[in-house]
Amino acid sequence: MGKPTGFKEFAREAAEYRDVDVRLVDYKELYTEVDTERLKTQASRCMDCGVAFCQSSDGCPVANVCPEWNDLVYRDRWKDALDRLHNTNNFPEFTGRVCPAPCEGACVLGSVDKPVTIKNVEFAIVERGFSEGWIQAQPPTFRTGKKVAIIGSGPSGLASAAQLNKLGHQVSVYERADRIGGLLMYGIPNMKLGKDVVDRRVKLLKEEGVEFVTNANVGGKESGDTSIEKLKQDNDAVLFCTGATNARDLPIENRELNGIYPAMEFLKANTKSLLDSNLEDGNFISAKDKDVIVIGGGDTGTDCIGTSIRHGAKNVINFELLPQPSEDRAPGNPWPLWPKIYRVDYGHAEANDRFGKDPREYCIMSKGFIGDDNGNLKGIKTVNVEWTNVDGQFSMKEIEGTEKVWDADLILLSMGFLGPEQYAIEPLGVEVDARSNYKAEYDKFTTNVAGVFAAGDCRRGQSLVVWAIDEGRRAAREVDKYLMA
Ligand SMILES: Cc1cc2nc3c(=O)[nH]c(=O)nc-3n(C[C@H](O)[C@H](O)[C@H](O)COP(=O)(O)OP(=O)(O)OC[C@H]3O[C@@H](n4cnc5c(N)ncnc54)[C@H](O)[C@@H]3O)c2cc1C
Repeated sequence: MGKPTGFKEFAREAAEYRDVDVRLVDYKELYTEVDTERLKTQASRCMDCGVAFCQSSDGCPVANVCPEWNDLVYRDRWKDALDRLHNTNNFPEFTGRVCPAPCEGACVLGSVDKPVTIKNVEFAIVERGFSEGWIQAQPPTFRTGKKVAIIGSGPSGLASAAQLNKLGHQVSVYERADRIGGLLMYGIPNMKLGKDVVDRRVKLLKEEGVEFVTNANVGGKESGDTSIEKLKQDNDAVLFCTGATNARDLPIENRELNGIYPAMEFLKANTKSLLDSNLEDGNFISAKDKDVIVIGGGDTGTDCIGTSIRHGAKNVINFELLPQPSEDRAPGNPWPLWPKIYRVDYGHAEANDRFGKDPREYCIMSKGFIGDDNGNLKGIKTVNVEWTNVDGQFSMKEIEGTEKVWDADLILLSMGFLGPEQYAIEPLGVEVDARSNYKAEYDKFTTNVAGVFAAGDCRRGQSLVVWAIDEGRRAAREVDKYLMA
């Protein structure tokens, strides 16, 4: 603990995002330059608590030792801080940008004051590591002769590839998309995570000896697809990291109208077109001059709002079925659990700036889409709902007389995901659980088929980057145990 009185002397001062006016004219990252002096002051607020909940499982799935690197940053020992960080997290540059930071929700200082800016410190350490040239490829010094095929190149696939390669196994990552990164590449938009940041890490993994195969749809039925049976035969172990990509639909009246899209179709096409041609090829769903309604919230909903505004949408509204969360923790949501409170994310702030109000409309249920004579979307019918809580059982009922029609030329469905696609596992007979996730126990990651493992969102359901990294790391350990008996 560098400065015992730091938490008493200094108030929390988190890094600002770039000004809304400036950032809305581009797709560059939201973040501002690291202010090293401010960072040191902020790191000195860490109390190095006896029981540091920030690094517990409630605080950090990868068990980052935040108090240690806060202290090292305060003492200007940045390289040591980087080593500490890499001990527990292969990709702090991803979590330092996109993690919701449950560590800050669990920070002990946060129980009486504002928490330490742990995520800002993580970001600064890893970016300093890259700019100083401290982060270099470290290929293994020996090879075991064992081969592992990883299917899917999201954070769980990349973390397990990094770990297994370090242990000397020959790792090949198969990805059906044309670029590596899973949702880091084709889900989370540039504003939150620049694609050069993803490519930078993938380049290091390649230099360390990981092989990446793109446009490889494993288990697909088209000619040219990659046979899963052959991968199983040619490798000593197979690890599925295929994500939870089945989006929830909204099968209400007139769903077939033109102009209604799953959020991921919108976001993926935008990023691909941006990377391929700076949006000049026109291969994306444009929100320009449109009345956009995003149904559903979360990170995906926010990303749809931010992207639509950058396209030049006429207006953006966001429907939420649930009521607005309270400003403070509810009684059933005590510290150090993740605080389920009202937050203003980047897309909400941008909509507020551009259209003069927060885009979120709460307690709204969609009843039916409205189209014109040509089958094009022109609006949506809704009704307000009321929630009641009887003995912890929440129930919802429609409020009579609150029916409303909203104009809309583009509706984006962002209502969560229903689990992984099944086609890649079917030929191997891998079992699924009651939620259709690939069945494999946490910390074992082995499926019912010997030598076949599963990790990340395809095993736990749609979650967070930090959980995917945790699962990838742990699954690598189990795969290694299996390979080396
Ligand atoms: C729009 C959006 C925004 C998000 N924002 C955040 C955020 O800000 N912070 C956060 O922590 N989390 C966020 N998440 C969640 C986070 O991205 C995921 O939890 C995480 O990426 C899961 O990692 P994964 O490796 O398990 O799977 P994924 O990242 O989904 O990667 C799976 C990969 O497998 C590939 N694949 C699937 N099937 C096959 C096959 N048969 N053959 C070959 N390849 C295959 C897919 O193409 C994909 O590339 C967001 C999710 C979405 C959808």
